[in-house]
Amino acid sequence: MVAEVIINSKAKQLNRTFDYNIPKEMESIILVGSKVLVPFGRFKKLEEAHVVKIKEKSEYEIKDIAKVENGLTNNQIELANWMAKRYFCNVSDCIRLMQTPGTNAKDINKRIQDKKINVVYLKKNFEEINFEIETKKLKSEKQIKILNFVKDNEGCTIPDIEMFTDCSRAIVNTLIKNGYLEIVEQKVERNPLETKNIENTSNLKLTKEQQEAFDKVSASIDYNEYEEFLLYGVTGSGKTEVYLQLIDKVIKKEKSAIVLVPEISLTPQTVDRFIARFGEENIAVLHSKLSVGERYDQWNKIKRGEAKIVIGARSAIFAPMQDLGLIIIDEEHDQSYKSETTPKYHTREIARYLAKENSICLVEGSATPDLDTYYKTQTGEIELLKLTKRANNAKLPEVEVIDLRHELEQGNKSMISGKLHQAIKENLQNHKQTILFLNRRGFSTFVMCRDCGHTIKCKNCDITLTYHASNKKLKCHYCGYEEEVVKECPECHGKNIRYFGAGTQKLEEQINLLFPEATTIRMDVDTVTKKNSHEEILNKFKNENIDILIGTQMVVKGHHFPNVTLVGVIAADSSLNIDDFRATERTFQILTQVAGRAGREETQGKVIIQTYNPDNFSIECAKKQDYQLFYDTEIMLRKQLKYPPFCDIIVVGVSSENKMSAFKITEQLHKYLKNRVITENLGIMLYKGMPAPVDKIKNKYRFRIIIKCKFGDETINLINDMLNEYGQTKEGKSGSVRLSIDLNPNNWL
Ligand code: ADP
Ligand code: ZN
Repeated sequence: MVAEVIINSKAKQLNRTFDYNIPKEMESIILVGSKVLVPFGRFKKLEEAHVVKIKEKSEYEIKDIAKVENGLTNNQIELANWMAKRYFCNVSDCIRLMQTPGTNAKDINKRIQDKKINVVYLKKNFEEINFEIETKKLKSEKQIKILNFVKDNEGCTIPDIEMFTDCSRAIVNTLIKNGYLEIVEQKVERNPLETKNIENTSNLKLTKEQQEAFDKVSASIDYNEYEEFLLYGVTGSGKTEVYLQLIDKVIKKEKSAIVLVPEISLTPQTVDRFIARFGEENIAVLHSKLSVGERYDQWNKIKRGEAKIVIGARSAIFAPMQDLGLIIIDEEHDQSYKSETTPKYHTREIARYLAKENSICLVEGSATPDLDTYYKTQTGEIELLKLTKRANNAKLPEVEVIDLRHELEQGNKSMISGKLHQAIKENLQNHKQTILFLNRRGFSTFVMCRDCGHTIKCKNCDITLTYHASNKKLKCHYCGYEEEVVKECPECHGKNIRYFGAGTQKLEEQINLLFPEATTIRMDVDTVTKKNSHEEILNKFKNENIDILIGTQMVVKGHHFPNVTLVGVIAADSSLNIDDFRATERTFQILTQVAGRAGREETQGKVIIQTYNPDNFSIECAKKQDYQLFYDTEIMLRKQLKYPPFCDIIVVGVSSENKMSAFKITEQLHKYLKNRVITENLGIMLYKGMPAPVDKIKNKYRFRIIIKCKFGDETINLINDMLNEYGQTKEGKSGSVRLSIDLNPNNWL
């Protein structure tokens, strides 16, 4: 292979590309954007250059590239190789995560102009647009969709529009050309920590439990040993204070620390606590909302060794730390730690790898630990540290469960029970704030009997069946089992069968009808769009003292609302009945986290959980706020049904625009795997190939094969052999077939 490079020089005559041969051993690590050293001209000295293009051959006689300076260490390249094998992707996919952001050819220009971004505004006023729509002057459905989106989200970017409306840039351009939209250049702050004026804080005197936890980790730090800890403590129990003091210790030893936080919790408040303790100059922040230039600057601050502490979302685990001394993963149960795009890594696994390599400690914190993590504390792989009390002695909220079946018996068909109605009313009178939470996820619609709460489940997998409107059938997304839609409940023979899928918008309408005097604000994927918008909605709710916040999962994270004393969960069943073996775990986590939003100050908060399944143990445990009981019950079920942590799950995905080719390849893959499993007697459980739950996305048909195994070399080799045999992409008759492999995926859609 040959690289076209640009020599890093101001000389005019060098302002063009030069070809260099890529030596074999560098092929996997040289990318467009790599920094390389090349022999140039008559001088012995090597020149620095950037690779801007990679091609098959050159028409000139060319020299070899002498050295790659991805800025990557050998250890990083080793990690990239390890990841590529484990997550079944290219080494270069992994290297990209470790390179300085904004140094590949595509981003360089972006970075230079970076201080400004283009945002979109309406150019005509919306009345005028509406008139054109009504009079059919404007007909294109897509154009109307975009205009509606921009109306609600003025100042969004073109990629925002593409993402949320699923319309192409070309349509945006047409709207600009025809005078409906305009592009405005907007300045972006380059230093995300700039102009902060934060008062310093110093170490608090630790409580007895905090001290014990601190001492255990501290001892391991002193021994320079790899060890993993789970800091399990309710929200407000002072986990962050323990992190702060551990970091303080590590920094005094001239080492550095990575603190990972879920993207959505990475609010200014979170970062400020670290700045207040350690000073802005010692801290770098990394998350996806930063511009390329901001990321570039932060990355270099770390590389130069100036930033001793990095606070960031998932990808910050790849930050180029000097003398790494500690890794902290806060809210370790959070799903955002698993990457859903290539490479599909789990942050915890990378963190563990790095902790071992550097002989340092990995501390994971949560109020509702991931079952897999907690299981490891039971087998002794991870040491458990507990904080059982709230640090400021705030009381845990009182939780009440409302049986919606009784509501129905009494003729109440609305989404709000009598009790919740009363509680909201009281809260409005007392000028306290309320959060209403609807934990609906994904597209799946499930079927439930409103008389007895019974849901229809798969006879083989114990997974809730999903309703498919297209052929009016109920289907299991795991094994493919199918049955006719029921008109009568098989359990109680009631006739009140309902299809669940109501959204936040409908809930807001109902609330506005029931409480016309109350101010409301809604937060869900439709309202959260612009840069920082999640943040803005929550700030607005807090600062303007809006009466009721209505939202999905997103309301659970990050903020602290002193004036919220009531949290209502509209239907806990929505997350209970997703077709995922983790459904009960997610439900317990969400309910516990949501309960933690109520009454964190002196006044005790109240939580009302509405459900058709009051006896479900995840709801019962959430009510008692009893993690241990939840864990004990759930882990037994997992063992019986052989789900993680007792096995790993690999999903082999096949997609193509041509349904037949996708189907055929799926069959072939299954045959190949089955053959290997049988002839080599592998300890692997293989399910037959079938359509994915969402079987068509963006015109691509999707199939998948599920594998249960104990993940290790045996499986790694099997899957890699399969990929070699069938290629990453395989040409079908019309259109190509794409294969994807996901280890322990979060998302089953
Ligand atoms: P968590 O991270 O577990 O949610 P925090 O560390 O945010 O908990 O602590 C919750 C509150 O208690 C914070 O306001 C914090 O300042 C306070 N706090 C934590 N530890 C102590 C302590 N040892 N003494 C007094 N207050 C504390
Ligand atoms: Zn099934």
